[in-house]
Amino acid sequence: MAMEENEQSAMAHVVFIPYAMTSHITPLVHIARLLAFHGLKVTIIAPQHNALLFQSSVDRDCLFSGSNITVRTIQFPSEEIGLPVGIENFIASPSMEIVGKVHYGFLLLQKPMEQIIRELNPNCIISDMFFPWTVDLAEELQIPRFSFQPATFIHQCAWVFIRELKLYENVASDSESFLIPGLPLDINMKVSEIEDFLKGETEFRKTVDDVLQAEIRSHGIIHNTCSELEPGFAQLYEKARGVKGWHIGPLALFINNYEAQISNNSCCDPWKGYGDCFDWLENQQSNSVLFVCFGSMIRFSDDQLEEMAVGLKAANCPTIWVFKEQDKNEEDGFSSKRFKEMKGENMFIIEGWAPQVLILKHGAIGGFLTHCGWNSILESLAVGVPLITWPLFSDNFYTDKLLEKLGLAIGIGAHVWNPGFILSCPPLSGEKIELAVKRLMNNSEESRNIRENAKLMAKKLKIATEEGGSSHSQLMGLIDEIKRCAFKNVGILPS
Ligand code: UDP
Repeated sequence: MAMEENEQSAMAHVVFIPYAMTSHITPLVHIARLLAFHGLKVTIIAPQHNALLFQSSVDRDCLFSGSNITVRTIQFPSEEIGLPVGIENFIASPSMEIVGKVHYGFLLLQKPMEQIIRELNPNCIISDMFFPWTVDLAEELQIPRFSFQPATFIHQCAWVFIRELKLYENVASDSESFLIPGLPLDINMKVSEIEDFLKGETEFRKTVDDVLQAEIRSHGIIHNTCSELEPGFAQLYEKARGVKGWHIGPLALFINNYEAQISNNSCCDPWKGYGDCFDWLENQQSNSVLFVCFGSMIRFSDDQLEEMAVGLKAANCPTIWVFKEQDKNEEDGFSSKRFKEMKGENMFIIEGWAPQVLILKHGAIGGFLTHCGWNSILESLAVGVPLITWPLFSDNFYTDKLLEKLGLAIGIGAHVWNPGFILSCPPLSGEKIELAVKRLMNNSEESRNIRENAKLMAKKLKIATEEGGSSHSQLMGLIDEIKRCAFKNVGILPS
């Protein structure tokens, strides 16, 4: 980097505030690291245990590429909200009640975080969408506030259009579809697939209202998506909301490129602790293995796990199945009775956290059975792995429709949205799971087309994140905008 750029950007200090979900924390910290790599001064404010998720990456950046990043930890009010120390993230929350408490804990952190930000006196705040109060503070400090939206444009358009137009009201039954009008792609949703807060008053609806209100008062919105995946959506969303957006996805790919640049200097073993899995993968044929993982939070019922076991076994395809601690429902539940039986030559089981990004990169992986968490989708498409989509909650169903339109996935046939990550829908049958796996993992024309599309998309995404590419240009534009605001420091906020 040119010295001149370094000197100039040293003036710009950006504060980042991640929220309580790994799928929000990881991409926001990616942005922080990228901005620091491009010479900006960065401070990330987070409770202690959440900070542990990224402290080592940040330390490596500081050591090997001279990044100026400080992690400012803050005491989580565990005692006040009646939670054991260390539960600051929805991953660690075994029930929706605890999720509510963690969220409340973050509401209580508003005042101490405001105080830290005032002390730091930064030039810019980039906050997770779930901290709408940061827009008030930014206005008070006369600095720009950017909201970070970790999911798709489709989902964000749907939040606005479905609510405003009440599209679901003209549909005869929950299983019938309606078209979301005005989108660049024809997206049809069943009423059973959309979030409950879009259809009526719920507690979360108020939170969403606050998020959307804060968004339109922000200097801009940062999206972890790109025009290669959602052509024409950025312009639509910007027009509909009246706020400038920067779409800089896939962030996982940017960080990959960046880590590749510094990896010569660092000496960590990425497979540390997962050697057995790597050895097993090395013995599989190229594109032959199905990876099965449902993000950081989903919790299945024993009945559903049983159906999954039956379906995966019948599909008879080499599989890595990631089985989460939170799935171990009861002493005599699925885990103890059936799980060990499932292990075998064709089935590698990871209990707990999997090195998903590394697994997806391995040439033996030929498909990914996923709930459509947006980070998982981006990580998979970045390396050209096609998908079997099993949407379950949150924004999963919009992503499922998008992937189907782009010819990148086979849908498993799930159509019921769950109000949380502890699933309440009836189990999907083993037959459906078997059929979907066979459709993707056999060598039919359909599967070859999807595989080809996925490889092509990986190429497009790579180009998007390289110099001159769409997301790269957006990232550079965002950095320039932050510097511009830091230099002027007055008169930059929308009235
Ligand atoms: N993840 C992982 N190992 C696991 C489960 C999840 O590394 O065993 C990571 C995954 O790579 C992704 C994130 O956790 O970055 C999950 O985010 P996503 O948006 O896909 O789903 P969510 O957790 O929000 O449902």
